[in-house]
Amino acid sequence: MPSPRLRFAPSPNGRLHLGHAYSALLNAAVARAIRGELLLRIEDIDPVRCRPELTDALVADLAWLGLAFPEPVWRQSDRMPAYRAVLDDLRARGLVYPCTCTRREIQAAATGARDPDGAPLYPGTCRGSAATAAAVAAGAPHAWRLDMARALQSCPGPHAYTAFAPGVPGATRAADPARWGDVVLGRKDVPTSYHLAAVLDDAAQGITHVVRGQDLEAATDLHVLLQRLLGLPTPCYHHHALIRDAAGEKLSKSLGSEALAALRERGVSPGEVRRWLGFTEA
Ligand code: GLU
Repeated sequence: MPSPRLRFAPSPNGRLHLGHAYSALLNAAVARAIRGELLLRIEDIDPVRCRPELTDALVADLAWLGLAFPEPVWRQSDRMPAYRAVLDDLRARGLVYPCTCTRREIQAAATGARDPDGAPLYPGTCRGSAATAAAVAAGAPHAWRLDMARALQSCPGPHAYTAFAPGVPGATRAADPARWGDVVLGRKDVPTSYHLAAVLDDAAQGITHVVRGQDLEAATDLHVLLQRLLGLPTPCYHHHALIRDAAGEKLSKSLGSEALAALRERGVSPGEVRRWLGFTEA
């Protein structure tokens, strides 16, 4: 059995709020309970929204909470050549195809079916399209999409993973990757997407236990398929409930929930934050 390893994987596109603090502290508590190591991974593939000063602020916020991580901190922005190589391999295997569609074109052609995140399922416009191939050869910006039907031919189901809860033995959970359709694995601006980078880095960092929010539970169905396609191990997963604010809304940066930095400025102590969130130790 590999030694247990976990990761906390925030995106530096805003300040950390209480929801992040809960996820980070839960990762630390699970790591402590199973004598595992907890790593920090900066998910900064978005060159516009992710800013280096936000990464520094995030590390400082976590340190304030009492969480320190082994150095050097893993940054996805350093990993682009590795992601590109995997995308090239998937292309050579005929498992991804280029797509020049804009969001508006996808909306216009959409059938009404939606992926688990609520986005229209890709209608397949560019799959096998000679016009797309010509546009790409002429230098048109393009993403790379997984050919889901071929991927499932290459790795037929049933697909499954082990879901665990802290202190409870794992249970097998069925996964249905098809509900994601032809997802983007390489964006127009960077040679990866969240899904591809997360799966590759979980394997490269030797992650055995993934503890993350329930908002990513459906993504795990896709991640297990990508792991099978790429010959990578599947960690066990715990998807925790999301911390909600007083109005019952999911706390997120977009809702302007109070950042840890703002709490700190108001004189709230890290111990108070931990207690609010139900943790007694850092
Ligand atoms: N970067 C993601 C987020 O901040 C987390 C990804 C993951 O844990 O797989 O929501």
